[in-house]
Amino acid sequence: MTKYELRTVVEGRVWLPGERGFDVARQAWHLTVEQPVAAVVEARDVEDVVALVRYARRTSSTVAVQPTGSCASGNTAGVILLRTSRFDEIRIDPARRIARIGAGVSWGQLLAAAEPHGLIGPAGNSPVVNVVGSTLGGGMSWFGRKYGLASAGVRAFDVVDAEGARARVTSDSDPELFWALRGGGGDLVIVTGMELELYPAPNLYGGQLMWSADRTGEVLAAYREIVRHAPPELSVWAERRQLPGAEGRIAIAATYLGDADEARALLRGFDAIDAPVADTRGPLTPSNLGALTSEPVDPGPGITRSELLTELDDEAVEILFAESISPLIGVQVRLLGGAFAEPHSGAHPAVAEPFSVHLHGLATSPATARTVRDTQRRIVVGLGGRIGARKPFTSLIPGESIAAAFDGPTVDRLSDLKRIRDPYTVFRANFPIHRAEMRAVFRRDCDCHRPAMPPWGW
Ligand SMILES: Cc1cc2nc3c(=O)[nH]c(=O)nc-3n(C[C@H](O)[C@H](O)[C@H](O)COP(=O)(O)OP(=O)(O)OC[C@H]3O[C@@H](n4cnc5c(N)ncnc54)[C@H](O)[C@@H]3O)c2cc1C
Repeated sequence: MTKYELRTVVEGRVWLPGERGFDVARQAWHLTVEQPVAAVVEARDVEDVVALVRYARRTSSTVAVQPTGSCASGNTAGVILLRTSRFDEIRIDPARRIARIGAGVSWGQLLAAAEPHGLIGPAGNSPVVNVVGSTLGGGMSWFGRKYGLASAGVRAFDVVDAEGARARVTSDSDPELFWALRGGGGDLVIVTGMELELYPAPNLYGGQLMWSADRTGEVLAAYREIVRHAPPELSVWAERRQLPGAEGRIAIAATYLGDADEARALLRGFDAIDAPVADTRGPLTPSNLGALTSEPVDPGPGITRSELLTELDDEAVEILFAESISPLIGVQVRLLGGAFAEPHSGAHPAVAEPFSVHLHGLATSPATARTVRDTQRRIVVGLGGRIGARKPFTSLIPGESIAAAFDGPTVDRLSDLKRIRDPYTVFRANFPIHRAEMRAVFRRDCDCHRPAMPPWGW
């Protein structure tokens, strides 16, 4: 491929190896993941995407769509990396409670656009994560206990297929592809736009409570009691934090879809714990969701491992919230349940486990990366049978495959579709659809299904 070829094919920006800006353009969100791509293209419009796919078909090249690289696996050697930031359309239809968005829109942007209409989207904790990318993988939202996976609310996709043809995919027009794109990832087409249901949120309440880490025992006891009675409108996450050079903290973050008084009553158990160092509870604007957990908005050397948890008993609390979590910087437990556990008609399975656990570390060097991963592995092994057999697709990390998210029949169904819809493998997702990887799949203990793909980077 020469720069002249690609630059005559698309109108958008192109970066090739050695050119100024190439290294930034190809960067993943987690800076530890290497992306040895052949080129980066920022498509200008749908015609550009069509032209790029036809070019890839003609030249036997592969295209990897990656709006943010926030779940980059490193599986990008030699691909043309497609960035979608120019697809920034957001149209809200308040009467139908539908958002029509382009493939470059982030959750922060969508929430800000929906807010004036008293509406909310099924957003997770990060304002930076791409709406289409996370919804293709199911999408675990703050409001999933009430409304289920984000993918359950998709009404239509606009796509470019592996032949470069445009189509609108709905439950009527193409039921099999519509099923696959709602939670089965994005390895079958390029999505250029999406229509997604929004939810009423006239009174959103939320905030963060924080104490010194020595109150962890009391806070976790109150947390376990509160989550036993939590209605689907309430989401509560507990996190032990240990940032370098700072005092240890135990934090609670909560959102409630309803009145402040009701929320205060539901969270009353925390009021009895003395000396909080912060309490930001109050009416919450949806566009401030990211601030609840102080989400980073720039790429960094983070390494997170997430798993589902079948129970948060005394021993699990002991393992997760031990006196020192070092070298990790955060150990977070999120309450799931409610509508997360209800089946929906997309490819992603229901998430039956009542909690997820997220182990955050920073990799400032290959050696610290190893130490962080070893600690994460040790904690997961310690939790043993409490770790769910599978995990949400959006929690996959380098070294894992779709086998960690789906059961055998679902992988077979996705693989059949991949073979028919993308027979020449024009597209390559971070976590591609591969039947062969499936055979080693099932696990009850924690590490035996990994790694199905080699991890790239450090
Ligand atoms: C800080 C942080 C917080 C997070 N919080 C949550 C959370 O609360 N809940 C949750 O469920 N997940 C969460 N995630 C995980 C996140 O949802 C996944 O990483 C998701 O895949 C991100 O989508 P992306 O497009 O931004 O990522 P990318 O890595 O850019 O893309 C991911 C994959 O999506 C597919 N894709 C993206 N766009 C398209 C498209 N237009 N057409 C076809 N395929 C496409 C591709 O197959 C690509 O491999 C978080 C991640 C981070 C980094």
